Amino acid sequence: MSYMVDYHIHTNFSDGKDSYMHYLEVARKKDLAEIGFSDHITLEPVDWCVKEIDYPVLRENLKNLCDNFSEDVQVRFGLEVDFFSGREEEIKQVISYFPADYVIGSVHFIDGWNFDSDTSLYGKWTNNELYHKYFKLIQEAAKSGLFDIIGHFDLIKKMQCWPETDQTPLYEETLKIIKEANVVIELNTSGLDHPCNDFFPQREILQMACKIGIPITLSSDAHQPIQVARHFEKAISLLKEVGYTKITRFRNRQRGEIEI
Ligand SMILES: [Zn+2]
Ligand SMILES: [Zn+2]
Repeated sequence: MSYMVDYHIHTNFSDGKDSYMHYLEVARKKDLAEIGFSDHITLEPVDWCVKEIDYPVLRENLKNLCDNFSEDVQVRFGLEVDFFSGREEEIKQVISYFPADYVIGSVHFIDGWNFDSDTSLYGKWTNNELYHKYFKLIQEAAKSGLFDIIGHFDLIKKMQCWPETDQTPLYEETLKIIKEANVVIELNTSGLDHPCNDFFPQREILQMACKIGIPITLSSDAHQPIQVARHFEKAISLLKEVGYTKITRFRNRQRGEIEI
């Protein structure tokens, strides 16, 4: 594999299972050029995010690794930050504390419900209603100016929550907003190992995104070292098939491009 990045990794600072060094070992074996650690930063007190008391040590340790890790793999300072409508100022404050190379903006909550880990409320709304609520939040996240990357674009399907009717217009509207907001999306391979058994986003959406010129980056959403760069060969084939020729890399919240 040529110059490749994996920008979405969780360590034991949040809900990942291991420390930086173990992920780096795998990254080296898999010949990655860059690895970005992006532990969860969430304003809600959940057990899968970085505890506020650990912010200083995360900042120190990861910055140190970015500056001093001098083997073949370059380390990037990422964050995966939850978007909450109306709390943009607080989110901005938290992000500004970290010397991030990039910030992934994700939606894991709908009206306070953590839909991708708690299945108890499926059925309360129609799936179409859930899609509508979810993608409105994604649109707001894109427009907020807080984020460089929108995380797992269609996460709402993770637990096999399929819309009752075709939602192509909603995807198109959302992608158009992402394009106008000049935000990148990720091809996140983790969905292949979840009940939905598909990439985030799925092929049709990726095709639309490519057509309107939304830049893409690549990520595994690894929660343990063995998952680093999972399904990447398949992912790169898919990217090429839908027409992508480059992926985006980040440093100091500035973008670069890599040919694939
Ligand atoms: Zn996520
Ligand atoms: Zn994640």
